[in-house]
Amino acid sequence: MNFNDMDIPVLNDKINELSQKYIKFLNNSKTEREIITNVKDMAEKNGFKELSTFQQLKAGDKVYYVNKEKNIFLAVIGDQDLNDGLNIIVTHSDSPRLDLKPNPLYEHDGLAYFKTHYYGSIKKYQWTTIPLAIHGVIAKTTGEKINIVVGDQEGDPVMVITDLLPHLADEQMEGKMKDGITGEALNLLVGNIPLKGQKKDGIKSNVLNILKEKYNISEIDFTSSEIEVVPALKCREVGLDKSMIGGYGQDDRSLVFVAAEAIMKIKEVKRTAVYIITDKEEIGSLGNTSINSKIFDLFISDVYHKLKGDQGLLLNNFFCNSRLINADVDIAMDPIYEFLFEKNNAFFLGKGITINKYSGYNGKDNCSDANPEYIAFIRKILEENNIRYQIGEGGKIDAGGGATNSFVFANKGVEAIDCGIPILSMHSPYEVVSKYDIYMAYKAFEVFFESY
Ligand code: MN
Ligand code: MN
Repeated sequence: MNFNDMDIPVLNDKINELSQKYIKFLNNSKTEREIITNVKDMAEKNGFKELSTFQQLKAGDKVYYVNKEKNIFLAVIGDQDLNDGLNIIVTHSDSPRLDLKPNPLYEHDGLAYFKTHYYGSIKKYQWTTIPLAIHGVIAKTTGEKINIVVGDQEGDPVMVITDLLPHLADEQMEGKMKDGITGEALNLLVGNIPLKGQKKDGIKSNVLNILKEKYNISEIDFTSSEIEVVPALKCREVGLDKSMIGGYGQDDRSLVFVAAEAIMKIKEVKRTAVYIITDKEEIGSLGNTSINSKIFDLFISDVYHKLKGDQGLLLNNFFCNSRLINADVDIAMDPIYEFLFEKNNAFFLGKGITINKYSGYNGKDNCSDANPEYIAFIRKILEENNIRYQIGEGGKIDAGGGATNSFVFANKGVEAIDCGIPILSMHSPYEVVSKYDIYMAYKAFEVFFESY
């Protein structure tokens, strides 16, 4: 069911302007660390300061905290008591990809490769025969950190994973699709020329030599690295009508971007507005950069003490009065595969921000089921501001499913709901969203941050 069904999406200047900004952001944000660097830059340009620089806080202050270069928490302090609750939006910075293994480099029959280990849920065959880039960081025992980015700049080489030619692929083509390309076959082609005078493992030695010259790293340094293999594809407008945007990592970077844009625009708020960009969502939300880490509680207690002095902390109090949007992409109805959808309750590209009462598997297993009173509140602020929304669920019952992060805050007592943008080809190297939906999500988040 959609609100504002008669409102036909048109691409006005505002929508196109935001889309162009988004395309630029996406092209420069291919890893968690790159996203956090870019959002931190945006924040500083918009008057946010690091929380540690404040002795005391007051209404109107804008603060941020970066956790391990992979999370950021932003807050705009409102003039209501913190115990009356927060308006929180959560997104995640990680996207499905291939990571280099700790010992990646090897040579085999005249070619050098990096071994990879896939991260998150992917269809492995989609990662062969497309240009790939490597983005990441190597931590040396000296404490030095070296950034490695190859494949996305004009003139850079790209890497590639080969696939069998059809002429030799009879067996591969007749097997199960999921076994067509195995995890151990996702090896990145990185070299073909041996180091001069080196007979054994000459090609591997040449690659190591290049890395030594360019980055001053040795083979052992890969064991303390975080290097991600991502599509070397530029984000582009899609369709003859330019109504859509294609690109890698739009789960969840589309919402990372629009929520960042929304909180940057806020001038003053009654309730304190908080934006959390978390990590590790694609692999189960565990660890010290995930939504399950205690780092956010530390951040918010620091804010509390700097606002109210040291009068005992009532974390539970303000969590119970808070509202949260877990902003993540949703499965868009794909007409080519319509048999997997129940159309009265599906999400459609170009019909506005998506709202999920629940997600989960089978009988709503592992989901956070939003309270109707809270859905009514979300509907009210969207309808009052003429923002087009659609309420539904992913695919048909028992066709699959997925869990989201909203239960983590719901478990603390927060009213939580999943909202987002419908996306085609989710988790592929080239996902597609609608410009109109991007804009509706942006407007929705602005209104949500300012709601009371
Ligand atoms: Mn996601
Ligand atoms: Mn995902």
